[in-house]
Amino acid sequence: MQHYKIAAIPADGIGPEVIAAGLQALEALERREGTFKLDVTMFDWGSDHYKKHGVMMPADGPDRLKGFDAIFFGAVGAPDVPDHITLWGLRLPICQGFDQYANVRPTKVLPGIASPLAGVGPGDLDWVIVRENSEGEYSGIGGRAHRGHPEEVGTEVAIFTRTGVTRIMRYAFKLAQSRPRKLLTVVTKSNAQRHGMVMWDEIAAEVAQEFPDVTWDKMLVDAMTARMTLKPRSLDTIVATNLHADILSDLAGALAGSLGVAPTANIDPERRYPSMFEPIHGSAFDITGKGIANPVATFWTAAQMLAHLGEAAAAARLMQAVEAVTGAGILTPDVGGKATTQEVTDVVCEAIRRSNI
Ligand code: NAD
Ligand code: MN
Repeated sequence: MQHYKIAAIPADGIGPEVIAAGLQALEALERREGTFKLDVTMFDWGSDHYKKHGVMMPADGPDRLKGFDAIFFGAVGAPDVPDHITLWGLRLPICQGFDQYANVRPTKVLPGIASPLAGVGPGDLDWVIVRENSEGEYSGIGGRAHRGHPEEVGTEVAIFTRTGVTRIMRYAFKLAQSRPRKLLTVVTKSNAQRHGMVMWDEIAAEVAQEFPDVTWDKMLVDAMTARMTLKPRSLDTIVATNLHADILSDLAGALAGSLGVAPTANIDPERRYPSMFEPIHGSAFDITGKGIANPVATFWTAAQMLAHLGEAAAAARLMQAVEAVTGAGILTPDVGGKATTQEVTDVVCEAIRRSNI
């Protein structure tokens, strides 16, 4: 029996609701497969912890996570705590401290969930966006001079290193190679941004040599938004910078029907540290406590976590159960249904128990 140590950090808002749902599905899978066991440790870090102790997590928080095989994360954000505290106090230190440089965001139109694009159904939109997660436009480097004066200047420095770009490019090519269509689109803005972005293009061409069976092309990020909307079938795997992929993946989530179904994985491909799995959405305090949070994004990221741990069969079974349930129209209100979080979770668990793939 394989044992995996999972750190669960439900955190804020609907985070605890969707993580509870995800853990129920994982337990159902454990019983169904009978080949692995998840040893889950819960951490009460987040905005309530901040209000009690003045910090989102204890100073030795990252050290306490080091020995785990994966981190299962809910969401951060509270109405009465500034966003820069919740984000920089918990999520970002984990991503950066564990060098989770590949942010992997699968998007597809699930059965039973309508895309806002006319005529686009399951199979027509099936992408994975790879977001560079460690440098680029979110380096935090910059400053303000002559603050408040008419001549004030603010700078926001984007850092691209050969090491950083090469490793994300190699990750993206490898991922594209593992998918049936073996298709990669490299996104930049190298017509207007002439340094780091031109380096992206050059490194893409170099790394492409290592993957002769992958078909790849280049897109400028502005034209990419049009292509995603007008020709979704022409895309498969996509790699982009921290900022560009941040924007493109929100568009992707919307085109697939809802933020409530979009998952993400923050991966350390070298497996030096635990990787972190979370829904893309935030703490959604407008619906917190109502029992109607869509758990699908969290189920999907649980499947990403199982695949990362090496439990591909369990990951496939979970996604098959989720698609059977959305396809049967058992949906939360954000995607046009009437079901509660618990009702969706119960039928997904039942589908896992009954499945025989
Ligand atoms: P949000 O994702 O929390 O919510 C946006 C809208 O989508 C809301 O109307 C919400 O009800 C809906 N929604 C989101 N997830 C849903 C789900 N699972 N089921 C049904 N509906 C869902 O974004 P926001 O409102 O901009 O931010 C709220 C807080 O979350 C802020 O403090 C923000 O900083 C934080 N945030 C955190 C993360 C994260 O933890 N990774 C991501 C985004 C936002
Ligand atoms: Mn974003």
